[in-house]
Formats: sequence, structure tokens, C-alpha cells
Amino acid sequence: MNKCLIIGSGPAGYTAAIYAARANMEPVLIEGPQPGGQLMITTEVENFPGYPDGVEPFQMMDDMRRQAERFGTRFVSGIVTKAELTDTVKRIWVEDNDLYEAQTVIIATGASARWLGIPSEKEYRGRGVSACATCDGFFYRGKTVAVVGGGDTACEEAGYLSNLCKKVYLIVRKPYLRASQIMQQRVFDNPKIEVLFEHNTVCLTGEQKVEGADLVYRKGEPDEQMHHIAIDGFFLAIGHHPNTGLFSGQLDLDAEGYIITRPGTPCTSLPGVFAAGDCADPHYRQAIVAAGSGCTAALEAERYLKTL
Ligand code: NDP
Repeated sequence: MNKCLIIGSGPAGYTAAIYAARANMEPVLIEGPQPGGQLMITTEVENFPGYPDGVEPFQMMDDMRRQAERFGTRFVSGIVTKAELTDTVKRIWVEDNDLYEAQTVIIATGASARWLGIPSEKEYRGRGVSACATCDGFFYRGKTVAVVGGGDTACEEAGYLSNLCKKVYLIVRKPYLRASQIMQQRVFDNPKIEVLFEHNTVCLTGEQKVEGADLVYRKGEPDEQMHHIAIDGFFLAIGHHPNTGLFSGQLDLDAEGYIITRPGTPCTSLPGVFAAGDCADPHYRQAIVAAGSGCTAALEAERYLKTL
């Protein structure tokens, strides 16, 4: 029987492992298909304290992993295919075959940015395409960028980028924004942001990196038109989905699927099960916040173990 099983290998999972290992909980961490988590889709991390010159995401995640390993974390590679969390003994299956039993489980499965599904966005990922303005906006200082989406995230990211960039296009598929009134007003009042309503992105263009985007205006309507915009960066802000499908029906999730935790704690609706990082955080989605919540999850797991 394991004392602590951690699912997820982003900043939340690794930080939970460092704390759990140092507390002699001998954690087992299950690394999924993308070790390092969402951070790995960014180009350079410049906002994580402790790296004054910035750090490549791979390096940072490798550093965290080695730190967790140093104190005795055991790593298992594979996809969790089934979880039974309601009993005192938690059961987790990896790749359908390998069963792991544990007294506590820390869920740090993260969230995934939604992508448009056009072929070129994958091609240019990390070379002009980003799903995080706060992470990558800095690389586009003085340049022209586009943000896709009409919700609060898109408006917020467009505003953030307008402080750095020469011009920001906001590409919105409907004739209106879905964002809250105040966010909409900020966008409309910002002279650097041009909103392109009723536009969809067809493809991205450029030699080595993004240099432009082909857009279609009012697709399928009699006045349909094609447009080309010259841009250096293309930011997706069409929402995220938390990677929590495995736990629905067992844990309390909100309408979007984020794990509900007791306010200010990583405690879920089930004793012995804790959530850390983006799978329980629809608001901040930052590596440093995820790392902090990984720490609190391990501390709570340790506390819980003492009550058994
Ligand atoms: P939302 O789901 O609110 O908005 C997603 C946006 O992306 C919508 O405008 C949607 O268009 C558009 N979209 C989805 N799929 C596509 C597609 N394939 N092509 C083009 N556009 C697409 O997500 P957000 O991340 O913006 O917000 C999530 C939650 O977080 C919300 O509740 C929001 O209020 C909250 N939030 C709050 C903030 C704040 O208060 N400061 C900041 C950020 C988020 P359509 O409208 O046509 O469906």
C-alpha cells in the first residue's frame, strides 16, 4: 500500500512530490503523456521566481523532477485509465493493467487549452502560436499579434498584449463578445485593439514562424470574404478544459469540470483526495500558483495520513 499517489507531472505534481517525499510519504508520481504539463508548450519561462535569466520549460521541469527524485519519489510512466477514490483505500489503474493502491491521492492532472483544430496551428506551435499571453507575450514586444476568442480570457489577453505590442487583432467568430461588460468596454476603449467580428481563422502563414493569418469573414454567407492579416504572433484564448473526466461521478466538479476544493485548501469532496494546479483552478493558470497548491496538497495529505 502506497501512502501517497500523485497523478500529474506539471509544476503542481512535482512540487507535491518534493514535499511528500521530504515528509517520508514515499510518493509515487504517475507521469502522463506530456511530462512537464502545459508549460512545455511555451518557449521560455521568465516569470517563475528563482530564474533571473529565464529558463527553458524542459529545463525547469527536469529540475523539479530531479528534486522530487532526490528525496525518493518513484516515477511511473503511463496514462491513468481508471480511478476508484471513494473508499479509504484509493485504487488507480495505469494503462488498464497496473493497479496502484494508496491511502492518499493528489490529483494534479492540469487543464488543456482548447485549440481551433486548423492544421497550421500545430505546425507553428512554439513558433508564433501560443495559448498563454502571460507566458509568451513578452516575446512579441513592439510587434503585431492576434488573439482568438470572445470571452473574458480573450479580452484580458488582448488587453495584456496591448501593453506590449504595437497592435492586437481580436478575432471573434460571432458578431458580439461573450465577455463581461467591463472587459468588453476595456477592449473597445483600447486604441491598439482592433476587433474583427464574424471572422474565423482558416490557416496561418509564414516561412519558419508565423507571419500572417488567412481569415474568412461571414463564412457561408452571400457576402463571405477572405482577408489576410500580417501578424507575428497568434494567441488562442478559446477556453480550457480541465483533465478531470476520469473523476466525474466521484468527486464534486463544477459545471466546467474543474475539481471543487474547500476554499483556500486543496481538499476535495472526498477524504484523502486532494487537488492541485490547473485541474482545480479556472482562474490563474500559472506555474507558480500550481506549484504552491502542490505544496499545500502534500501538506494536507500528510495531515490526513496522521488521522488514519
Ligand atoms: P469562454 O468559454 O467564456 O469563451 C470562449 C470564447 O472562445 C468564446 O467567445 C467562444 O466563442 C470562443 N470560441 C470557442 N471555440 C471557438 C472556435 N473554435 N473558434 C473561434 N472561437 C471560439 O472561455 P474563457 O477562457 O474566456 O473564460 C472561461 C471562464 O473564466 C469564464 O467564466 C470567464 O468569465 C472566466 N474568466 C474571468 C476572467 C475575469 O473575470 N477577469 C478572466 C478570464 C476568464 P462563442 O462566444 O461564439 O461561443
